[in-house]
Amino acid sequence: MHDVVVIGAGAAGIAAALELTRMGIRPLILDVGYRGQKHEGRIEENFYEHRRKHDTFDVMIGSRHQGLANLFSEKIVPVKLTSPDMEFVTRNADRLAPITATEFAPIQSFASGGLANAWGAGLYRFTDRDLAAFPVSEADLRPYCDHLTREIGISGEDDDLTPYFGSTDDLLPPIRLSHNIGRMYGRYLDKRQKFKGRIALGHPRAGVLTQPHDGRPALGYDNLEFWQDTAAIYKPQLTLDKLIDRDLVDYRSGILVSAWTETDDGVRIDGLQVEDQREISFAGKQVIMAAGAINTSKIVLTSLQDHQTELKLLENPALQIPMVLPSSIGRKLDLGSFGLVQLNLVWESETFDTLIQGSLMEVTSPRRAEFFSSFPFAARQSLAMIRQLLPAMVVMQLFWPGSHQKPARLRLDDGNGLCLSGQPNTLDMGKIGEVLAAMRRLGAYTHPALIVRVPTGHAIHYAGTLPMRDKPGRYECDRNGRLAGTDRIHIADSATFPELPAKNMSFSMMANAMRIARDMVTGR
Ligand SMILES: Cc1cc2nc3c(=O)[nH]c(=O)nc-3n(C[C@H](O)[C@H](O)[C@H](O)COP(=O)(O)OP(=O)(O)OC[C@H]3O[C@@H](n4cnc5c(N)ncnc54)[C@H](O)[C@@H]3O)c2cc1C
Repeated sequence: MHDVVVIGAGAAGIAAALELTRMGIRPLILDVGYRGQKHEGRIEENFYEHRRKHDTFDVMIGSRHQGLANLFSEKIVPVKLTSPDMEFVTRNADRLAPITATEFAPIQSFASGGLANAWGAGLYRFTDRDLAAFPVSEADLRPYCDHLTREIGISGEDDDLTPYFGSTDDLLPPIRLSHNIGRMYGRYLDKRQKFKGRIALGHPRAGVLTQPHDGRPALGYDNLEFWQDTAAIYKPQLTLDKLIDRDLVDYRSGILVSAWTETDDGVRIDGLQVEDQREISFAGKQVIMAAGAINTSKIVLTSLQDHQTELKLLENPALQIPMVLPSSIGRKLDLGSFGLVQLNLVWESETFDTLIQGSLMEVTSPRRAEFFSSFPFAARQSLAMIRQLLPAMVVMQLFWPGSHQKPARLRLDDGNGLCLSGQPNTLDMGKIGEVLAAMRRLGAYTHPALIVRVPTGHAIHYAGTLPMRDKPGRYECDRNGRLAGTDRIHIADSATFPELPAKNMSFSMMANAMRIARDMVTGR
């Protein structure tokens, strides 16, 4: 019998396993565990340089036309997931875990390393303000955040966002800003007193290396973020591979866990071998569940054979705001920029009575075709327009707290699939005037017709189905993640979050998973 069985090898499961190995425990990790092909290093120069010399069909469209997925499927997915190199991230998800969804577009991963293989690596500490509804504090998470900061290599800076982002210890230098975003930031630094303390800008906390770290290279500013894996951007898979190489974990891929049963002296875990569909069982003294909030909840409901209960699922409502800097129209495209988040914005919004966080990005990495449908002209004119406007465009994604929208409801259907019913994104665009005015002061303009309400589910921050409480009730966990009514089942992913702050949540989820693993073992 294994001391600890971890179910799932995404960000949460790998963080929990890492902490167990630090305590001398060799966990069994059960995972479906698809892997991508190793394409890192296939392109060794700036993407635009490469494109001038080579055909890029393979890289951008792919042999199975993965890059065109959003054109031919009713199920639209976030752009990065249409990149051929990212195909493995969502491989077979609909088959392995069917979901009948209304007003919610779930994205699931059965990859080794999970959804984080495609993430933007915006990695933020929850502060006490973010944790107000949690039975844990910033101080409880701090040792784990500190350890992860050193493990991952996080860039950032002590700036106006430090009160919102917490400790700056051990940060690497911030990501270099592109021309447009650098201009906006320069103006902000000149005019920040005009924002009356309600809007602040600063550097992101990003798992993006700005100098070599732990044998990994620094970022090349090569615009390949969408098209080719780079070790400069951290993925939890890197940590898992290290643990496997050092034989510190027993990692079993190809296993789809369906349910657990507590026995007198442990837990039996039942599942299927994905390849031949044969049943298989494992035994452990303790179980840590980290299959992602949706699949963890499914396994819990299946284990308890409960087809009635509806669990509440939180997600961050979000808006995507394309903006143009008129001063950059007609300029050459900035080819040496970083294509993911370069700056963050925090808005103490009076109109929404809450804290809202934004991410500012360049648009040099995605395909130009992504913007094609936004222009109401014939193809040739649209192309000309894109050529003129793209070098002058930036995009801001704004996140609201999960509590700002009624939660979705998740239930086991009669065939052991899931039913998920959500809410349309109804964020009131009439109330974002203050932030748009701030952007204009920084030289960036938008038009209401360009602003997109991100479909519910596409923020890809799923949480809250089995929340931690001081006094947990049914389908809730105690502060150590132990599921009420069980002795040996601990939940380590974001299913345990009682609230979803307006902040990318994975880093704090990883820190919390480490805390849960340690407290489970030490019996704190
Ligand atoms: C394009 C994109 C950008 C993102 N950007 C950011 C960002 O910048 N910052 C941020 O904080 N977050 C970001 N996210 C979200 C982030 O990736 C997820 O929140 C995080 O990866 C979730 O990790 P997880 O461990 O909870 O679950 P998952 O990543 O869903 O992993 C689940 C794991 O469990 C396994 N599993 C599932 N079910 C079973 C089963 N039944 N049996 C066995 N194994 C199972 C899977 O194989 C997988 O290994 C982004 C996501 C995407 C897709």
